[in-house]
Amino acid sequence: MNILFMGPPGAGKGTQAEVIVNEFGIPHISTGDAFRLAIKQGTPVGIKAKEYMDQGLLVPDDVTVGIVRERLQQSDCEKGFLLDGFPRTLSQAEALEDLLSGLGKKLDHVINLKVDRNKLLARLTGRRICKSCGSTYHVIFNPPVQEGVCDKCGGELYQRSDDNEESVGTRLDEYINKTAPLLNFYEDKGLLRQVDGEQEIGAVSTEIVSILRG
Ligand SMILES: [Zn+2]
Repeated sequence: MNILFMGPPGAGKGTQAEVIVNEFGIPHISTGDAFRLAIKQGTPVGIKAKEYMDQGLLVPDDVTVGIVRERLQQSDCEKGFLLDGFPRTLSQAEALEDLLSGLGKKLDHVINLKVDRNKLLARLTGRRICKSCGSTYHVIFNPPVQEGVCDKCGGELYQRSDDNEESVGTRLDEYINKTAPLLNFYEDKGLLRQVDGEQEIGAVSTEIVSILRG
């Protein structure tokens, strides 16, 4: 079972990915983790990636693709994998096709978690952090007993500057603009399955599992 997971920040991808990898006994491959592993293991492409990152440069696509290729060749991926955070662009999607066919694999399902932009904004701007002890809260999902006050230490809660509506909105629009062509790409291949990510967490999982069980 080779799965690609898509969805904007705040759609609950991480939570759902965890459920799916446990259900199907496949590894969760996020590009972030794959990068850290390749760098830690000092693989040739890991070394290359580190050079770019150390200079604060964007890692070029061919290096990213190389990292993903290395990761997918490891033995735990024989039964399948859940890929998350890659591809992000159409050219990366095309590179992934080539990479997989080179390994004699293909994607079985592309799951896209759909959540309305305003709901995402509410989710992503709701985080609050305690000034004194660093505990995190969420105004919707995990509110403190008393608004603006830390349950643990009574400290004052604040919102991180990059959690504000403007920067979150920019991040969301970037994601939506970049990935829209990708969704079309997978739709044309008949692989795309849209899942309503606004349902309760358990209901989202149930829907995804039933799609994957086909
Ligand atoms: Zn506190």
